[in-house]
Parts: sequence; C-alpha cells; structure tokens
Amino acid sequence: MRIGVFVCHCGSNIGGTVDCAQVAAQAALYPDVVYATDPMYTCAEPGQAAIEAAIHEHQLDGVVVASCSPRMHEPTFRKTVERAGLNPYMFEMANIREHVSWIGRDIAANTHKAAELVRLAVEKLRQNSPLRSQEFPITRRVLIIGGGVAGIQAALDCAEGGIPVVLVEREATIGGKMAKLDKTFPTVDCSACILGPKMVDVAQHPKISLYAHAEIEEISGYVGNFTVKIRKRATYVDWDKCTGCGTCTEKCPSKTSYDHFNEGIAKTTAITIAFPQAIPKKAVINKDFCRQLSGKKCGVCAKVCPTQAIDFAMEDTFVTENVGSIVVATGYDLMDWTVYGQYGHGRYPDVITSLAYERLMNASGPTQGHIVRPSDGKEPKSVVFVQCVGSRDPAIGRPYCSGFCCMYTAKQAILTKDHLPDSQSYVFYMDIRAPGKMYDEFTRRAQEEYGTQYIRGRVSQIFPDGLGQMTVLGMDTLLGRPVEIKADLVVLAVGIEASKGARELAEKLRISYDAYGFFLESHVKLKPVETNTAGVFLAGVCQGAKDIPASVAQGSAAAAKVLTLFAKETLASNPQIAQVVLKRCIGCGKCLRCCPYGAIKSSQVRGEEKAEVIATMCQGCGLCTATCPQGAIQLAHATDNQILAEVDTLCQL
Ligand code: FAD
Ligand code: SF4
Ligand code: SF4
Repeated sequence: MRIGVFVCHCGSNIGGTVDCAQVAAQAALYPDVVYATDPMYTCAEPGQAAIEAAIHEHQLDGVVVASCSPRMHEPTFRKTVERAGLNPYMFEMANIREHVSWIGRDIAANTHKAAELVRLAVEKLRQNSPLRSQEFPITRRVLIIGGGVAGIQAALDCAEGGIPVVLVEREATIGGKMAKLDKTFPTVDCSACILGPKMVDVAQHPKISLYAHAEIEEISGYVGNFTVKIRKRATYVDWDKCTGCGTCTEKCPSKTSYDHFNEGIAKTTAITIAFPQAIPKKAVINKDFCRQLSGKKCGVCAKVCPTQAIDFAMEDTFVTENVGSIVVATGYDLMDWTVYGQYGHGRYPDVITSLAYERLMNASGPTQGHIVRPSDGKEPKSVVFVQCVGSRDPAIGRPYCSGFCCMYTAKQAILTKDHLPDSQSYVFYMDIRAPGKMYDEFTRRAQEEYGTQYIRGRVSQIFPDGLGQMTVLGMDTLLGRPVEIKADLVVLAVGIEASKGARELAEKLRISYDAYGFFLESHVKLKPVETNTAGVFLAGVCQGAKDIPASVAQGSAAAAKVLTLFAKETLASNPQIAQVVLKRCIGCGKCLRCCPYGAIKSSQVRGEEKAEVIATMCQGCGLCTATCPQGAIQLAHATDNQILAEVDTLCQL
C-alpha cells in the first residue's frame, strides 16, 4: 500500500500544543507510509487541493488526516480523496484536536499521543478495503408531526415545492399555541389574522393530507422509505358527515367539562369544536365527560345533529402511510406550575397562567376579549405579572430559559393598558432577555409609554388578603428592599417543557433528546434542523425555546432540507453496514431480536436457518456484531480484524 499522512495544525488549535512537524516526521516511518506532511488548514481549499495533488504525485492508495473530530470533516475528506480517484473508504481520520490539543497543554506529551493516534489510523487503513454504496429509490412524500405554526410552515413550503405532505396533529385542530394567542410581539398584530389564512391554506392545499386528533403509533424504515402507522383517535363524530354547525355543542347537557383550548378559564360541553376558526372545524366528544359514553342515558347530540354524524360506537382506527422524510414539530407545553406552594398550588382563581391570560384578552375567547377576574367577573385595576415561574430554577430541575416570556410579558402589559386604560401593571423579572430585532425597544415601550412598573426580583409569596385582592410579596433587588403589591389579578409567565410524550416519540423516531426532553439537532451550529437519524428534521420549539419568527424560519429550513433530499430520484445507501458470515452463523436469531431498526431477517440457505441483513435498513450501529455469540456478523469498515489491528498496535507502543 502507499499511504499519505497529513497532520493538520488547525491554526493554533492543534499547532499550539502539538509539534505537528514532528508527528508528520514520525508518521513517515510507519509501515506503508510514503508521504507525510503538516499543512496549516487541511480542510480549507488549499489543504484539500494539496491532498489531491499528493494522491496523484505519490500514487497514494490510502490517506490519513490527523486533525479534528471526524463528525464534522470525515465526509469532507472522503469527498476530497474520491475526487482524486480513491475509494472514499480508503481514508482514515485521527482526532488530535478534541482528543489531544484541546485537553492537554504539555507539548511533548501531546505530540507523543498525537503520533500514537496517527499510528493507529495508519494500521486501521492498512486493513481497509474499498466499499461501494447502492442506489435505492425514494418515496417523495413527507410526514410532518405537529400542526403548530412551525409544522404548518413546513407543510406549506413542502406542498408548494410539489411534495405531498401527511400532517399529523394530536389535537382536534391545527394551530398549536399561536391559535390561542391574542396579539403577537413585536408588532402586536392579531395572531388569528396571520395564522388563520395559513391554517385555511393547509386545509385547502391539494397536496396536504391532514390527520387531526391523531398520533404516531409506529415508525419503521429509513431515509427515503419510512412506513408510518397513524392512530386516528375516536372522535365519536363522523367527520365526513359533520358540518361543524355547532348545534350539538349548544344542546349538550354536560356543561362541566374543563375547556382545554381556553386553558381552563371557561367551561365547555362534552362535545366541542375547539374554536370558531378551527381547522378542521369538526366536533369531538370528550368521552370522560359524555353522559352517554359514561354509561348514563343521554344521546342529545345524536338527536339534534342534522347530519346524523354522531357515532357512539366509534373506535380508534389506524392508517399506514409511506413517506421518505419526516419533520418533527411537536412544540412545547407549559410546565405544571402548581408545584409552587408559595404561589398557592393553583388554588386561587385570580392567579392564572400567561396562556390563560391570552384567552382572556382574545376577542374570540370566552369573555370576548374583556379582561375580567375569573373569581368575580370584575375588571382588574392592578395586574401583577411574574416572570420566570418554572424557568431558570435549578431547585425544580429547570435551569433553562423559556426564551419568549420576557417578550410576551411586555406585550401583555401593553395590551392590558390598551384594554383597561385605568389599570396599573407590575412586572417582577430576573433580567430582561430581548435580543431580537426591535425587541429591546419593545420592552422599553412597555415601561416608558405604557407606564408598566418593572421590579427586579423574585416573588416570594402570593396569597389572598381577605379583602378581595391578592397580596404579592417580593424583593426589589435593585433597591434592596422588600415589596408588597395588592393585585386584582396575577399572571404567571410559566416556563415551558418538552411536549407530552416527546421522549416516547423520540424513541420511535430514533432521534436524541436533551436532559429536558427537547429534541437534539445533529450539530448545534452547522446542522440545526437535522437530527442524528437521516431524513428526520426538526422545526420549532420541540428543539428548544424560540418565538414565532424563529419557529417559522426553522419550519421553512426543515422544508428546504426535505426538498433538497427529494431533489434526487434515488439515494445512495451507507455501505458501512452489517454483513453475515454465513458459515459461522448458527441461526440463533439473537441479532434479529437486538436490531433496533428491524434490519435483520431470517432466511433459508441450503436448508439451514441463517441471518440476513437488509442492506437498505441497516444503519451500521453495530449492536448485532456485539451481540452475536458466534462472531458471525461483521460491520463493514469496523470489522474485528480492523479493530484488532489498532488494539495490537496500541499494545506494542
Ligand atoms: P406549538 O405551538 O406548541 O405547536 C406544536 C403542535 O404540535 C401543537 O399543535 C401540538 O398539539 C402538536 N403536537 C405535540 N405533540 C404531538 C404529537 N406527538 N403528535 C402530533 N402532534 C403533536 N411568540 C411570539 O413570537 N410572539 C408572541 O406574542 C408570543 N406570545 C406568547 C404568549 C404565551 C403566553 C406563550 C406561552 C407563548 C408565546 N409565544 C409568542 C411563543 C409561541 O407560542 C411559540 O413560539 C410557537 O407557538 C411555537 O410554535 P411550534 O409550532 O413550535 O409549537
Ligand atoms: Fe353531550 Fe350527551 Fe352527546 Fe355526550 S351524548 S356529547 S353528553 S350530548
Ligand atoms: Fe441492525 Fe446490526 Fe445494522 Fe445495527 S448494525 S442496524 S443491529 S443490522
């Protein structure tokens, strides 16, 4: 073999604490190495050109680059060697940055370790053989999970790009949290006016199939060819017949049910249509509150429904869809703030969440936009907003910032003054985070133009004063003194958490999530919408706190990724997959059971049971190779021989 070694300085990142020239000089002495050098930036254009030139000049048939993490640049260098005519798998990378220069300052020790890592990479390369991928056809349809503003944007962009979309929304209507909002910062324009037309576009777009009141049951397959089983939860109303006339909701006698859409500040009936602009605008029976479905006699809705749409015998049904890509846009939930005893554990009707306040302010909300106290229906004169309730609070395991509460609190204070000119608003805050365009100016407007009093400090207690108001006790940390405010209404800016079931969904999708359940992007800076599963992309708050403009931008970014993926007719399979050594396989089936991708099946070979790897489904995770008691499965590019060659070399050093 003729191997070339390139030991990268990465500016001073590596060169500052590793003697790269010495590592290259040592590498030149390793078996089969015919050329070794130490460029300044190997990944830059001149660095890559130098590799290509060296391959031609020294007739190299293998290349080692000692530089940064392969996670980022292995694909870059594989393409470089391929351009010069080598098979991309005749390339190895030694990570001497994250594993050496960034973790040690002793130049001699670092140089020694870097040289050893290069030695291992050379030994691995000496065992490599060319691998070739196969082309496979793709299904050019996309599944979007979650119909909030991020999912809606992704769906519309994909559909406009000519890609059929399957949109699955857990609730009975799309719209997510934005559909509940009154007006939106920083422009204070009406949420329904900007979201409503987009929701209608979703309903009317010929390329979008919407499954509302539905959830993902199972996902199998791989990029280009996923099979998705969708559970359509029983609504007890035949949506093909329901016209959304609302007669049933008016006549239903079960009027005590918690109004989920109105965040509990109103009651509703057992049969509901979430809100007048709902998409789809169809009725759903909440079986926990329905008299008929609880075994009592009723059936009023069935009697009054003009289209005979009520179906008490309805059960969940399942549909299967084939798609080539998936966008996850499942958003967030508000955390359960009632854990805070000092704020009353949720016992006081006039202590409400910020989202409930949006419903109070909303012209299509239960009070038609009239701000009143839930306890007595009177207009509040003094409103206290408390920020960071359940955000940035390590004591309850939520150290992260919820991103948009500073901004929407300023918005709510402005709107309060608009609605109730005689009112006075107070905001308790830890610090104001308003980094977006015109955001800082917006929070200043709340203070300077609208007279909102901002008090820096946490609220220690909220309790009824016995005279019809709430007492809010806190600390003004700027003035260094305690504060007591009498409030008619207290609005809590409750922190966000990953949406219910996010972790279970992540397991079905085989994507990673952080310690708090938000989905993990593939690379924080350079792959912010990709996940670690090829073909699965992220949009909106499911990945981390972000406001509407950022959620929409990420929805469009995810759609762009889908369209890029589907720009090709076929995809190349990953050749780094498991391979069965037939003569060693005893057909025990352990690999079939351990493979998380269902990529191994049993097949008959000359009358004997053997494992067979389905090449397009195998993701090369290596679980089966570690599980097989016979050592009968080898992972291409990480075979026992290749790994042992490195281990043997290490033992000899
Ligand atoms: P969501 O709106 O949460 O939508 C996610 C959707 O996915 C939901 O419909 C949900 O039902 C669905 N879903 C969840 N799990 C599943 C599943 N497993 N299967 C299928 N579907 C699922 N931002 C602004 O820019 N301006 C404002 O003025 C503003 N005001 C706000 C006021 C309040 C009180 C709050 C709490 C937030 C405010 N925001 C504001 C932030 C805004 O709500 C978010 O930026 C936006 O809603 C994010 O959209 P999303 O689509 O990512 O998530
Ligand atoms: Fe309401 Fe009765 Fe219909 Fe149930 S059966 S949804 S309680 S009207
Ligand atoms: Fe399945 Fe083995 Fe491939 Fe992993 S390496 S996906 S376990 S076949």
